[in-house]
Amino acid sequence: MDRIYLDNNATTPLAPEVVEVMARHLAETWGNPSSVHAAGRAARRALDEARESVAELLGARPREVVFTGSGTEADNLGVVGSYLALREKGRHLVVSAVEHAAVLGAARFCERELGAEVTFVAPNREGVVEAEAVAAALRDDTVLVALMAANNETGARMPLEAVGALCRERGVRLFTDAVQAVGRLPVRFDAWPVDVLAFSAHKFHGPKGAGALLVRRGVRLHPLVRGGGQERGLRPGTESVPYAVGLATALRLAVEGLPEMTTRVAALRDRLEAGLAERVPGFVVNGPSRPEDRVPNTLNASFPGAEAEGLLIGLDRAGVAASTGSACASGAVEPSHVLTAMGLPRDALASSLRLSLSRRTTDAEIERVLEVLPGLVAGLRAAA
Ligand code: PLP
Repeated sequence: MDRIYLDNNATTPLAPEVVEVMARHLAETWGNPSSVHAAGRAARRALDEARESVAELLGARPREVVFTGSGTEADNLGVVGSYLALREKGRHLVVSAVEHAAVLGAARFCERELGAEVTFVAPNREGVVEAEAVAAALRDDTVLVALMAANNETGARMPLEAVGALCRERGVRLFTDAVQAVGRLPVRFDAWPVDVLAFSAHKFHGPKGAGALLVRRGVRLHPLVRGGGQERGLRPGTESVPYAVGLATALRLAVEGLPEMTTRVAALRDRLEAGLAERVPGFVVNGPSRPEDRVPNTLNASFPGAEAEGLLIGLDRAGVAASTGSACASGAVEPSHVLTAMGLPRDALASSLRLSLSRRTTDAEIERVLEVLPGLVAGLRAAA
Protein backbone atom coordinates (compact mmCIF):
# COMPACT_ATOMS: atom_id res chain seq x y z
CA MET A 1 0.00 0.00 0.00
CA ASP A 2 1.19 3.53 -0.76
CA ARG A 3 2.23 5.72 2.11
CA ILE A 4 -0.52 7.72 3.79
CA TYR A 5 0.24 11.40 4.26
CA LEU A 6 -1.65 13.05 7.11
CA ASP A 7 0.71 15.95 7.76
CA ASN A 8 -0.79 18.49 5.38
CA ASN A 9 -0.64 21.33 7.92
CA ALA A 10 3.16 21.05 7.80
CA THR A 11 3.28 21.04 4.03
CA THR A 12 1.52 19.52 1.03
CA PRO A 13 2.81 17.77 -2.09
CA LEU A 14 2.85 19.90 -5.24
CA ALA A 15 -0.15 19.60 -7.55
CA PRO A 16 0.95 18.19 -10.93
CA GLU A 17 -0.53 21.24 -12.73
CA VAL A 18 1.66 23.46 -10.54
CA VAL A 19 4.80 21.48 -11.35
CA GLU A 20 3.97 21.70 -15.04
CA VAL A 21 3.30 25.44 -15.11
CA MET A 22 6.33 26.24 -12.93
CA ALA A 23 8.66 24.11 -15.06
CA ARG A 24 7.46 25.91 -18.15
CA HIS A 25 7.98 29.35 -16.63
CA LEU A 26 11.38 28.40 -15.14
CA ALA A 27 12.51 27.46 -18.63
CA GLU A 28 10.79 30.15 -20.65
CA THR A 29 9.89 33.20 -18.58
CA TRP A 30 13.40 34.04 -17.44
CA GLY A 31 13.28 37.75 -18.22
CA ASN A 32 13.47 40.45 -15.57
CA PRO A 33 9.97 41.89 -15.15
CA SER A 34 11.50 45.38 -14.90
CA SER A 35 13.21 45.16 -18.31
CA VAL A 36 11.59 46.95 -21.23
CA HIS A 37 12.59 44.44 -23.93
CA ALA A 38 10.45 41.52 -25.08
CA ALA A 39 11.82 38.99 -22.55
CA GLY A 40 11.17 41.45 -19.72
CA ARG A 41 7.71 42.26 -20.97
CA ALA A 42 6.80 38.56 -21.13
CA ALA A 43 7.90 38.15 -17.51
CA ARG A 44 5.95 41.27 -16.48
CA ARG A 45 2.84 39.96 -18.21
CA ALA A 46 3.06 36.58 -16.43
CA LEU A 47 3.62 38.29 -13.08
CA ASP A 48 0.71 40.69 -13.62
CA GLU A 49 -1.56 37.82 -14.56
CA ALA A 50 -0.55 35.87 -11.46
CA ARG A 51 -1.25 38.93 -9.30
CA GLU A 52 -4.63 39.56 -10.93
CA SER A 53 -5.60 35.93 -10.48
CA VAL A 54 -4.62 35.90 -6.78
CA ALA A 55 -6.52 39.14 -6.23
CA GLU A 56 -9.66 37.84 -7.89
CA LEU A 57 -9.58 34.49 -6.07
CA LEU A 58 -9.28 36.15 -2.65
CA GLY A 59 -11.46 39.23 -3.19
CA ALA A 60 -8.58 41.70 -3.25
CA ARG A 61 -7.39 44.32 -5.73
CA PRO A 62 -4.25 43.47 -7.71
CA ARG A 63 -2.40 46.38 -6.08
CA GLU A 64 -3.17 44.90 -2.65
CA VAL A 65 -1.16 41.72 -3.40
CA VAL A 66 2.52 41.65 -2.33
CA PHE A 67 4.41 38.47 -3.24
CA THR A 68 6.93 37.32 -0.62
CA GLY A 69 9.42 34.47 -0.23
CA SER A 70 7.36 32.56 2.39
CA GLY A 71 4.51 32.73 4.86
CA THR A 72 7.11 33.55 7.51
CA GLU A 73 8.30 36.55 5.51
CA ALA A 74 4.71 37.71 4.94
CA ASP A 75 4.08 37.44 8.70
CA ASN A 76 7.21 39.45 9.49
CA LEU A 77 6.33 42.15 6.96
CA GLY A 78 2.77 42.27 8.30
CA VAL A 79 3.76 42.58 11.96
CA VAL A 80 7.12 44.38 12.00
CA GLY A 81 6.27 46.43 8.89
CA SER A 82 3.02 47.57 10.54
CA TYR A 83 4.66 48.38 13.84
CA LEU A 84 7.39 50.46 12.16
CA ALA A 85 4.74 52.40 10.23
CA LEU A 86 2.56 52.95 13.30
CA ARG A 87 4.91 53.38 16.26
CA GLU A 88 4.64 57.17 16.17
CA LYS A 89 0.97 56.66 17.07
CA GLY A 90 1.47 54.08 19.78
CA ARG A 91 3.74 51.28 20.87
CA HIS A 92 1.41 48.61 22.13
CA LEU A 93 0.69 45.38 20.24
CA VAL A 94 -1.90 42.74 21.10
CA VAL A 95 -0.90 39.30 19.86
CA SER A 96 -2.62 35.98 20.38
CA ALA A 97 -0.53 33.52 22.37
CA VAL A 98 -1.28 30.69 19.93
CA GLU A 99 0.20 32.36 16.84
CA HIS A 100 2.77 30.56 14.70
CA ALA A 101 6.44 31.12 15.61
CA ALA A 102 6.70 33.53 12.65
CA VAL A 103 4.24 35.98 14.24
CA LEU A 104 5.40 35.39 17.84
CA GLY A 105 9.01 35.89 16.77
CA ALA A 106 8.17 39.07 14.85
CA ALA A 107 6.26 40.48 17.85
CA ARG A 108 9.08 39.61 20.27
CA PHE A 109 11.55 41.30 17.91
CA CYS A 110 9.43 44.49 18.03
CA GLU A 111 9.49 44.24 21.82
CA ARG A 112 13.18 43.47 22.25
CA GLU A 113 14.69 45.68 19.55
CA LEU A 114 12.15 48.34 18.56
CA GLY A 115 10.59 49.58 21.79
CA ALA A 116 7.19 47.89 21.50
CA GLU A 117 5.16 46.55 24.39
CA VAL A 118 3.32 43.34 23.61
CA THR A 119 0.36 41.79 25.40
CA PHE A 120 -0.02 38.11 24.54
CA VAL A 121 -3.63 36.97 24.82
CA ALA A 122 -4.24 33.42 26.06
CA PRO A 123 -6.81 31.15 24.39
CA ASN A 124 -9.68 29.42 26.14
CA ARG A 125 -9.50 25.68 26.87
CA GLU A 126 -10.59 24.90 23.32
CA GLY A 127 -7.73 26.95 21.84
CA VAL A 128 -9.87 29.88 20.71
CA VAL A 129 -8.71 33.40 21.49
CA GLU A 130 -11.99 35.07 22.40
CA ALA A 131 -12.96 38.57 21.29
CA GLU A 132 -13.62 39.53 24.92
CA ALA A 133 -10.05 38.61 25.83
CA VAL A 134 -8.71 40.73 22.97
CA ALA A 135 -10.97 43.60 24.04
CA ALA A 136 -9.63 43.40 27.58
CA ALA A 137 -6.05 43.64 26.29
CA LEU A 138 -6.61 46.77 24.16
CA ARG A 139 -5.15 50.05 25.44
CA ASP A 140 -5.28 53.63 24.21
CA ASP A 141 -1.84 53.19 22.68
CA THR A 142 -2.59 49.85 20.94
CA VAL A 143 -1.79 50.11 17.23
CA LEU A 144 -1.97 46.50 16.06
CA VAL A 145 -3.80 43.28 16.85
CA ALA A 146 -2.42 40.02 15.41
CA LEU A 147 -4.88 37.13 15.38
CA MET A 148 -4.58 34.13 13.07
CA ALA A 149 -7.56 32.98 11.01
CA ALA A 150 -7.05 29.33 12.00
CA ASN A 151 -4.50 27.61 14.18
CA ASN A 152 -1.96 25.28 12.57
CA GLU A 153 -1.94 22.78 15.45
CA THR A 154 -5.58 22.47 16.49
CA GLY A 155 -7.32 23.91 13.42
CA ALA A 156 -9.25 26.26 15.73
CA ARG A 157 -10.92 29.09 13.85
CA MET A 158 -10.62 32.46 15.51
CA PRO A 159 -13.40 35.07 15.88
CA LEU A 160 -12.06 37.47 13.23
CA GLU A 161 -15.48 39.08 12.65
CA ALA A 162 -15.88 40.17 16.26
CA VAL A 163 -12.23 41.13 16.70
CA GLY A 164 -12.31 43.01 13.40
CA ALA A 165 -15.36 44.98 14.51
CA LEU A 166 -13.61 45.83 17.75
CA CYS A 167 -10.48 46.96 15.93
CA ARG A 168 -12.45 49.11 13.46
CA GLU A 169 -14.29 50.76 16.35
CA ARG A 170 -11.02 51.56 18.08
CA GLY A 171 -9.03 52.48 14.98
CA VAL A 172 -6.58 49.61 15.54
CA ARG A 173 -5.02 47.73 12.63
CA LEU A 174 -5.82 43.99 12.40
CA PHE A 175 -3.24 41.61 10.97
CA THR A 176 -4.22 38.01 10.32
CA ASP A 177 -2.03 35.02 9.54
CA ALA A 178 -4.32 33.08 7.19
CA VAL A 179 -1.69 30.47 6.25
CA GLN A 180 -3.89 27.59 7.46
CA ALA A 181 -7.13 29.14 6.24
CA VAL A 182 -6.43 29.80 2.56
CA GLY A 183 -7.39 26.68 0.62
CA ARG A 184 -9.35 25.29 3.59
CA LEU A 185 -12.00 27.96 4.09
CA PRO A 186 -13.49 30.62 1.85
CA VAL A 187 -11.22 33.65 2.33
CA ARG A 188 -12.56 36.98 1.05
CA PHE A 189 -10.36 39.99 1.73
CA ASP A 190 -13.15 42.34 0.61
CA ALA A 191 -15.56 40.89 3.16
CA TRP A 192 -13.18 40.25 6.05
CA PRO A 193 -12.61 43.10 8.53
CA VAL A 194 -8.82 42.72 8.40
CA ASP A 195 -6.23 45.19 7.12
CA VAL A 196 -3.30 42.89 6.36
CA LEU A 197 -3.45 39.14 5.62
CA ALA A 198 -0.61 36.64 5.13
CA PHE A 199 -0.64 33.25 3.41
CA SER A 200 1.72 30.64 1.98
CA ALA A 201 1.53 28.52 -1.19
CA HIS A 202 2.93 25.26 0.19
CA LYS A 203 -0.07 24.67 2.44
CA PHE A 204 -2.32 24.23 -0.62
CA HIS A 205 -0.21 22.16 -3.02
CA GLY A 206 1.89 25.10 -4.21
CA PRO A 207 5.65 25.55 -3.94
CA LYS A 208 7.55 26.12 -0.70
CA GLY A 209 9.28 29.52 -0.74
CA ALA A 210 6.24 31.41 -2.07
CA GLY A 211 3.94 33.49 0.10
CA ALA A 212 1.97 36.68 -0.17
CA LEU A 213 0.65 39.52 1.91
CA LEU A 214 -2.62 41.26 1.14
CA VAL A 215 -2.38 44.91 2.19
CA ARG A 216 -5.58 46.90 2.15
CA ARG A 217 -5.53 50.10 0.12
CA GLY A 218 -4.43 53.03 2.26
CA VAL A 219 -2.69 50.82 4.86
CA ARG A 220 0.93 51.93 5.31
CA LEU A 221 3.73 49.42 5.89
CA HIS A 222 7.48 49.79 6.26
CA PRO A 223 9.49 47.46 4.02
CA LEU A 224 11.91 45.22 5.91
CA VAL A 225 14.26 44.80 2.96
CA ARG A 226 15.73 47.77 1.09
CA GLY A 227 16.43 47.83 -2.61
CA GLY A 228 14.49 48.57 -5.76
CA GLY A 229 10.84 49.41 -6.11
CA GLN A 230 9.46 45.93 -6.76
CA GLU A 231 6.18 44.97 -5.12
CA ARG A 232 5.42 48.68 -4.62
CA GLY A 233 8.69 48.98 -2.69
CA LEU A 234 7.33 46.72 0.06
CA ARG A 235 9.31 43.67 -1.01
CA PRO A 236 12.18 44.74 -3.23
CA GLY A 237 14.18 42.17 -5.16
CA THR A 238 13.73 40.83 -8.70
CA GLU A 239 10.41 39.01 -8.66
CA SER A 240 10.29 35.22 -9.08
CA VAL A 241 7.79 34.76 -11.89
CA PRO A 242 7.70 30.92 -11.72
CA TYR A 243 6.94 30.99 -7.99
CA ALA A 244 4.28 33.69 -8.33
CA VAL A 245 2.65 31.72 -11.16
CA GLY A 246 2.96 28.49 -9.13
CA LEU A 247 1.26 30.17 -6.16
CA ALA A 248 -1.52 31.57 -8.33
CA THR A 249 -2.13 28.21 -10.05
CA ALA A 250 -2.22 26.32 -6.75
CA LEU A 251 -4.59 28.94 -5.33
CA ARG A 252 -6.98 28.56 -8.26
CA LEU A 253 -7.05 24.78 -7.77
CA ALA A 254 -7.53 25.22 -4.02
CA VAL A 255 -10.41 27.65 -4.43
CA GLU A 256 -12.03 25.35 -7.01
CA GLY A 257 -11.54 22.49 -4.54
CA LEU A 258 -13.11 24.30 -1.57
CA PRO A 259 -16.53 22.60 -1.90
CA GLU A 260 -14.75 19.23 -1.72
CA MET A 261 -12.63 20.39 1.22
CA THR A 262 -15.63 21.55 3.21
CA THR A 263 -17.75 18.46 2.48
CA ARG A 264 -15.82 15.28 1.58
CA VAL A 265 -12.60 16.09 3.45
CA ALA A 266 -14.50 17.41 6.48
CA ALA A 267 -16.57 14.19 6.53
CA LEU A 268 -13.39 12.08 6.40
CA ARG A 269 -11.89 14.04 9.28
CA ASP A 270 -15.14 13.56 11.25
CA ARG A 271 -15.08 9.83 10.44
CA LEU A 272 -11.50 9.59 11.70
CA GLU A 273 -12.46 11.42 14.88
CA ALA A 274 -15.57 9.32 15.51
CA GLY A 275 -13.71 6.07 14.74
CA LEU A 276 -10.92 6.89 17.17
CA ALA A 277 -13.38 7.98 19.86
CA GLU A 278 -15.10 4.59 19.48
CA ARG A 279 -11.94 2.47 19.49
CA VAL A 280 -9.59 4.26 21.89
CA PRO A 281 -10.63 4.68 25.53
CA GLY A 282 -9.54 8.04 26.91
CA PHE A 283 -9.26 9.66 23.46
CA VAL A 284 -9.69 13.45 23.69
CA VAL A 285 -9.86 16.09 20.97
CA ASN A 286 -7.64 19.14 21.49
CA GLY A 287 -9.34 22.21 20.10
CA PRO A 288 -12.93 23.26 19.55
CA SER A 289 -15.29 20.38 20.38
CA ARG A 290 -17.55 21.29 17.45
CA PRO A 291 -15.79 20.17 14.25
CA GLU A 292 -17.24 23.15 12.35
CA ASP A 293 -15.26 25.46 14.62
CA ARG A 294 -12.06 23.95 13.18
CA VAL A 295 -10.71 24.03 9.62
CA PRO A 296 -12.14 20.97 7.80
CA ASN A 297 -8.89 19.02 7.49
CA THR A 298 -7.48 19.04 11.03
CA LEU A 299 -7.74 16.70 14.01
CA ASN A 300 -5.51 17.18 17.03
CA ALA A 301 -6.08 14.61 19.75
CA SER A 302 -4.45 13.08 22.82
CA PHE A 303 -4.11 9.41 23.73
CA PRO A 304 -3.15 9.61 27.43
CA GLY A 305 -0.76 6.87 28.49
CA ALA A 306 0.78 6.54 25.02
CA GLU A 307 3.76 8.83 24.27
CA ALA A 308 3.33 10.85 21.08
CA GLU A 309 6.86 10.05 19.85
CA GLY A 310 6.14 6.32 20.10
CA LEU A 311 2.87 6.79 18.21
CA LEU A 312 4.60 8.78 15.47
CA ILE A 313 7.28 6.12 15.03
CA GLY A 314 4.70 3.32 15.02
CA LEU A 315 2.58 5.17 12.48
CA ASP A 316 5.60 5.87 10.30
CA ARG A 317 6.50 2.16 10.34
CA ALA A 318 2.94 1.42 9.26
CA GLY A 319 3.33 3.92 6.40
CA VAL A 320 1.40 6.80 7.95
CA ALA A 321 2.88 10.31 8.26
CA ALA A 322 1.50 12.40 11.13
CA SER A 323 3.01 14.92 13.53
CA THR A 324 3.04 16.20 17.06
CA GLY A 325 2.30 19.89 17.28
CA SER A 326 3.81 22.00 14.52
CA ALA A 327 6.62 20.75 12.28
CA CYS A 328 9.08 23.31 13.66
CA ALA A 329 8.34 22.19 17.20
CA SER A 330 8.37 18.45 16.55
CA GLY A 331 11.72 16.85 17.14
CA ALA A 332 12.24 19.27 20.03
CA VAL A 333 11.42 18.11 23.55
CA GLU A 334 9.51 21.32 24.26
CA PRO A 335 5.76 20.72 24.52
CA SER A 336 3.62 22.69 22.08
CA HIS A 337 3.12 26.33 23.13
CA VAL A 338 -0.42 26.14 21.74
CA LEU A 339 -1.52 23.10 23.76
CA THR A 340 0.32 24.43 26.82
CA ALA A 341 -1.52 27.76 26.55
CA MET A 342 -4.80 25.81 26.39
CA GLY A 343 -3.97 24.33 29.80
CA LEU A 344 -3.76 20.68 28.76
CA PRO A 345 -2.66 18.33 31.54
CA ARG A 346 0.81 16.81 31.20
CA ASP A 347 -0.30 13.38 30.00
CA ALA A 348 -2.48 14.94 27.32
CA LEU A 349 0.42 17.15 26.21
CA ALA A 350 2.80 14.22 26.00
CA SER A 351 0.41 12.09 23.96
CA SER A 352 -0.94 14.58 21.41
CA LEU A 353 -0.96 13.90 17.69
CA ARG A 354 -1.95 16.10 14.79
CA LEU A 355 -3.57 14.39 11.81
CA SER A 356 -4.14 16.79 8.90
CA LEU A 357 -5.85 15.74 5.69
CA SER A 358 -5.95 17.13 2.17
CA ARG A 359 -8.11 16.78 -0.94
CA ARG A 360 -5.97 13.77 -1.82
CA THR A 361 -6.92 11.84 1.32
CA THR A 362 -9.13 8.83 0.59
CA ASP A 363 -11.69 6.76 2.51
CA ALA A 364 -9.38 3.74 2.37
CA GLU A 365 -6.54 5.73 3.94
CA ILE A 366 -8.71 6.83 6.87
CA GLU A 367 -9.94 3.24 7.38
CA ARG A 368 -6.32 2.06 7.41
CA VAL A 369 -5.39 4.62 10.10
CA LEU A 370 -8.38 3.45 12.12
CA GLU A 371 -7.06 -0.12 11.87
CA VAL A 372 -3.51 0.78 12.91
CA LEU A 373 -3.65 3.58 15.46
CA PRO A 374 -5.82 2.00 18.21
CA GLY A 375 -3.46 -1.00 18.34
CA LEU A 376 -0.43 1.26 18.62
CA VAL A 377 -2.04 3.13 21.51
CA ALA A 378 -2.93 -0.11 23.30
CA GLY A 379 0.62 -1.46 22.76
CA LEU A 380 2.31 1.64 24.16
CA ARG A 381 -0.06 1.75 27.12
CA ALA A 382 0.63 -1.89 27.93
CA ALA A 383 4.39 -1.28 27.74
CA ALA A 384 4.29 1.88 29.91
N1 PLP B 1 1.89 30.63 9.85
C1 PLP B 1 1.27 29.46 10.04
C2 PLP B 1 -0.04 29.42 10.78
C3 PLP B 1 1.86 28.28 9.56
O1 PLP B 1 1.25 27.11 9.79
C4 PLP B 1 3.08 28.36 8.86
C5 PLP B 1 3.74 27.14 8.34
O2 PLP B 1 4.19 26.29 9.07
C6 PLP B 1 3.67 29.63 8.68
C7 PLP B 1 3.04 30.72 9.18
C8 PLP B 1 4.96 29.78 7.96
O3 PLP B 1 4.84 29.68 6.56
P1 PLP B 1 6.13 29.29 5.69
O4 PLP B 1 6.41 27.84 5.99
O5 PLP B 1 5.70 29.52 4.27
O6 PLP B 1 7.23 30.18 6.10
